[in-house]
Amino acid sequence: MTAPTLLQQLSSDDRWTSSVIRDLLVHARQPGVLSLAGGLPAVELLPIERCQVAADRLFAERGGVALQYGLTSGEPELRELLVRGDAPDVDRILVTAGSQQALDLVTRLAASPTETSTVVIEDPGYIGASQVFRSHGHQLVGIGVDADGLRVDELADHLAAGLRPRLCYVNPTFQNPTGATLSAERAQRLVELAETYDFLVVADDPYVELALDDRPAATPLPESPQVIRLGSMSKTLSPGLRIGWIDADPRLVAQLALVKQAADLHTSTFNQLLVADVMSDSTWWSAHLDGLRNGYRQRRAALRSAVDRHLPNAQVTPQGGGFFLWCDLGVDVDTLLPAALDHGVAFVPGAAFAIDQPANTSIRLSYSSGDQTQYDEAVRRLAAALAATTS
Ligand code: PMP
Repeated sequence: MTAPTLLQQLSSDDRWTSSVIRDLLVHARQPGVLSLAGGLPAVELLPIERCQVAADRLFAERGGVALQYGLTSGEPELRELLVRGDAPDVDRILVTAGSQQALDLVTRLAASPTETSTVVIEDPGYIGASQVFRSHGHQLVGIGVDADGLRVDELADHLAAGLRPRLCYVNPTFQNPTGATLSAERAQRLVELAETYDFLVVADDPYVELALDDRPAATPLPESPQVIRLGSMSKTLSPGLRIGWIDADPRLVAQLALVKQAADLHTSTFNQLLVADVMSDSTWWSAHLDGLRNGYRQRRAALRSAVDRHLPNAQVTPQGGGFFLWCDLGVDVDTLLPAALDHGVAFVPGAAFAIDQPANTSIRLSYSSGDQTQYDEAVRRLAAALAATTS
C-alpha cells in the first residue's frame, strides 16, 4: 500500500472538527424551519442606527487612523474602556477578534511544549471551547455542572487524586449550554484550587451583562494572577464586529500579544474604534443594555411559557439570564433531532455539549433569536416530534 500523500493526510486530519451547532444552522435556515438552535443575538436588538452614527463620524473625523494598521494589543481608547477595577491597568487588556480568538490564543500559550496538556472544562460545556482545546491536542477532562455552576468539589477530588491540568475553562455566568451561574463560594474555592495546584482559570464571560432577573448578576471571580478573564461584545453589541478581549496579568498579556501578532497582527482598527465610540457614550450604552435585557426577558418568558405548555414534564435548569434554557426531557433524545427537523423545528441536542458524561436526555433551547411570536408553535412541533420518537 502506498503511503497517503500530504494532501490526503491533511484533508482527513481529524483534529479539526466542525461544531454541531454551525452544521445545524444550515438546516435551521431551511424555509419553514423554526429555529431554537443558534445562540445568535436578536436582529431587532442590534443597534444599527447608533453604529451608523459612529461609522459616519469615524470616516469624517478619523478615517486615516480607522483604515490604518493598528497596535497588536489594541486601540488604547478601547482598552481603557474595557479595563476594570479601582486601579485600572490597561496593560491587562488585549483586544481580540471575539472571545473565540482569545480562547485560541490562551490555548496556544498554555500548551506544554513537551507533553499533552490537560484542560478541565464544564461538562456539559461550550462547544467552541472544547473544539479549540481538542484542535490543539489538549486532553479534556469534564467536570459536572449543576444549578450553581461547575462542581468545584468534584474538581477538588480529581486534583487530590493527582489530576494536574494547566487550564480550567469556565463560562461562569449563565453558562452555555445550561444557563447555570457559578456561585460566589464555588468561585472562591476554584481560585484557591488554582493557586494551590498551579493552574490557570479561564473565565469566559460573554453573557455577564445579560442578567434578566432582579437578583444581582454573578459575583465575579476573585482577583488572582491565576485568573484569565475573557470578554466579548458579541452578545451586547454585535457578533459581526468580532471584538472580544483578554483581561489578565500583564506578564501573560504581553506573551499573548506575541501569540496574536503571529496569528493576525491586530484586530480590525475600524471595528475597535467603532466599539469605543459607542461604549464611551455612557448614557446611551447603559440605556442600550437595559433595552437588551428587556428584549431578552420577554423572549425568555415567551419560550418558557411554551415549554411549560407543551413539554410539561421537562426539567428546566434554573437560570438568571443569558440566551438558553436547558431542558431535561427525562427520556433518551438521541433520535429527536431528525424527527424535529421533519416537523419543522431545530434545537441543539445535549449530547453535542457532552465531554465525558452523557447528556442524552437534555436539549438546549435558545430564546435569543428567531420570531418570538412563533415560539409556541416551535415548541408544539418539538413536542409532536418527541411524541413521534418515543411512542
Ligand atoms: N464563549 C461562549 C460561552 C459563547 O457562548 C460564545 C458564543 N456562542 C463565545 C465564547 C464566542 O464569542 P465571540 O463571538 O466573542 O467569539
